[in-house]
Amino acid sequence: MKLHEYQSKQIFADNGVPIPHGRVAVTAAAAKEIAEELGGRVVIKAQVLVGGRGKAGGVRLVKSPGEAEEIATQLLSMQIKGLSVRRVLVDETASIRTEIYLGITNDRMTRRPVIVASGEGGVEIEEVARTSPERIVRVPIDPFLGLREYQARSVAARIGLDRDHWKAFGQICLGLYGAYSRCDATLAEINPLVITEEGRFLALDGKMLIDDNAMFRHPDLAELRDVDEEQPEETEARKYGLSYVKMDGQVGCMVNGAGLAMATMDLIKSCGGNPANFLDIGGGASSEKVAAALRIILTDANVRSVLFNIFGGITRCDEVARGILNALRTVTRPVPMVARLVGTNEEEGRRILASAKMDTALTLVEAAQKAVTLAMG
Ligand code: GDP
Ligand code: MN
Repeated sequence: MKLHEYQSKQIFADNGVPIPHGRVAVTAAAAKEIAEELGGRVVIKAQVLVGGRGKAGGVRLVKSPGEAEEIATQLLSMQIKGLSVRRVLVDETASIRTEIYLGITNDRMTRRPVIVASGEGGVEIEEVARTSPERIVRVPIDPFLGLREYQARSVAARIGLDRDHWKAFGQICLGLYGAYSRCDATLAEINPLVITEEGRFLALDGKMLIDDNAMFRHPDLAELRDVDEEQPEETEARKYGLSYVKMDGQVGCMVNGAGLAMATMDLIKSCGGNPANFLDIGGGASSEKVAAALRIILTDANVRSVLFNIFGGITRCDEVARGILNALRTVTRPVPMVARLVGTNEEEGRRILASAKMDTALTLVEAAQKAVTLAMG
């Protein structure tokens, strides 16, 4: 789950990271009021869950409350990369001397959190990684020991900070790591972390990704979810307890089990096709759940065929087959489908599907080949 800038920065502040004074507004009048409180010169920032908002004109400096109202009106009627701006953050402005990138994320190679920093902040870190990778510093963090002060000092030195800033920078790293670990985040990022003309550090921008699998431990964070900003299919999938990730191929996949789903996608690839999605319906999926899953797959206009790959253990093949039939009744778009059902009650499952004239296959390879051919035809 992605958090908005204003939500991320609040969490950073709760963990001791300095942020500018400011508040979020849903109307231009409220933005004007906040600007008055903050003394007139403010930065107005569209709150949308996409990157590159600054470049898209979503971050604007203004000099007076009147101008704040005007700009907030513009931003609140704007769309950025297809998302409507429903809120703006009104922050006091900072006079920037230095812009730093500071982030913590999971590193799958070292199987640890890693702190990533660069003296080239403000711009996209992917851009820095491409053009001057030597300017990015990475230090792995032992999850049992946590981030140590000497590691933060070493980062400070390696990104070229003056020695008199090391201590404050170290505190910010520790604060950010606190936010990251307490929230079960997979990313906590400040870009830019600035040093002001007065020599103070401030987190001007903030981004956090929270591990959805840890959400059950964070009811307070779950409330921060902004469903307006999500793909409607993903919201729908979560409602039914389905793991769904949209991709850009043509073969829709419905599979029970994450590992099996990945193997299925690999096989579609090796048969010359491209998967349209990852979808794990989980164990013991009821027919309603299967029906919801099929509806979600078919909302993707790129889907040209659907492959069902069900390994019946706890999940019963006949139950899945009934779910498919249920869903087919509500489906308006004719998309060819092929099913491979094996395991508990497989004969019954195949019989039900055959009655609906649905193509079945005995092996996964055969099913994948059929689905790819159907998608191309
Ligand atoms: P992003 O483009 O969505 O990442 O938005 P940011 O919040 O990172 O802002 C983009 C850029 O706007 C920053 O890198 C700064 O250069 C600039 N900016 C943001 N806030 C201020 C501010 O208070 N004062 C000044 N002078 N520049 C700011
Ligand atoms: Mn930024």
